[in-house]
Parts: sequence; C-alpha cells; structure tokens
Amino acid sequence: MTVDVPAVPQPTIAIAGEAERFPVRRIFCVGRNYADHAREMGHDPDAEPPFFFTKPADAAVPGGVLPFPARTDDLHHEVELVVALGGGGANIDRAEALGLVFGSAVGLDLTRRDLQADAKKLARPWDMAKGFDASAPIAPLTRGLPATDAAITLTIDGELRQQGHLSDLIWPIDALIAELSTYVALAPGDLIFTGTPSGVGPIRPGETLVATVAGLPPLEVRFEG
Ligand code: MN
Repeated sequence: MTVDVPAVPQPTIAIAGEAERFPVRRIFCVGRNYADHAREMGHDPDAEPPFFFTKPADAAVPGGVLPFPARTDDLHHEVELVVALGGGGANIDRAEALGLVFGSAVGLDLTRRDLQADAKKLARPWDMAKGFDASAPIAPLTRGLPATDAAITLTIDGELRQQGHLSDLIWPIDALIAELSTYVALAPGDLIFTGTPSGVGPIRPGETLVATVAGLPPLEVRFEG
C-alpha cells in the first residue's frame, strides 16, 4: 500500500550571506521574560517565573508581505531575539548551553491577543492564539549571538513602539536553554523565541513593522490590507 500524501516540506530559514538554509525542527517560545512586559500584561515578574509554549515549525516564515491572520481583531506584535540550536540534549548544564547555539535572528511572536485573552479567561490552551499560520516571521540568521546588552526595538510606520536591551532578559539565553531542556530534550534545528520587552500592541492591515536587534539583520513585515 502506498501512502497517497504529497511529500511534506522541511521548513527552513535563511542564513545571512550563505546559500545553505537552517532546517527548523521545533519552535519554542518563552512567556514574560522581560519584567516590564510581565507588568504590562498584569503579572508580577518576581512572583511568577517565565514559562514555555510552542508554535508549529512551519509558522517560521521570512519577512515581507504577509496575509493578515484570520479570526482576530487584535493581532499583536512581540519583537524577540530568536536563538537557533545546532546541538541539543536533556538537562543541559548552563555552562554548556551557549556551546549549543548555532546562531540568532530577529523574530516576531505574532499573537492573536483577543483569542489569548479568551483562552486565559477560560483556562484553555493558547495554541490558536500563538501557533497560527505564519505566526513566527524571522529575519535571516547570523552565526553566534549578539552582544549581551544589544538593543531590541520595533517600529510601526517609523514610530518606535517597543524598546529594550537583551541585558533586561529575566532568564538569559544560557539559563533559558538549560531550563527548557529540563522539560524536553532539545535538538539541532530547534528555535527559541526568548521573550519580548514592553510596548506590545495591535497591528493594523497595511502597516509596516521593522524589528531590530543591534548587530543582526532587521526584520521587515507588512500585513496585507
Ligand atoms: Mn512572546
């Protein structure tokens, strides 16, 4: 018996200046990893540690023009540093964690905030709020990591909306990798969205977003009107 299903493509993301592409295995995201964002979402960053959720691998798409997602009237931007793993393991020592990093990129953790608010209210999963089609636009990867105090910003139509520094991360990258690896065995191809600074807000059709982390290629996204 043959299985009459077309071949499933391997999601990949670009590597800046290289012909080869990075294969995406899974996408992990951390919630509330900047104190000012935890506060703006109504939480106490000292009382609640960050936590993890996921998106499908094929949610990773390049920047450019994207369709405005279905089923939302409140699509939010969250600019994040994305870390791509070239190695993995379970219960990784913090001292070994950065050695597993292949590279890094600027990404957007797009969020259907209205669906997320409903999910929170009803104690339901976040999947449809976070893990929808094209919900993880990512700029080309750069090998290695940016400076630990690199600035992270997001503008909409030229107006600054989000601003922070990677030094504001509650869980720095090594601690994040070590902690996540106590929940799942990490593997090459895994991406980790490391959280967003404050200033998240709605995106309207036709607006152009530019997301940056100093030292990395910027991500530019426009949503079809
Ligand atoms: Mn996020």
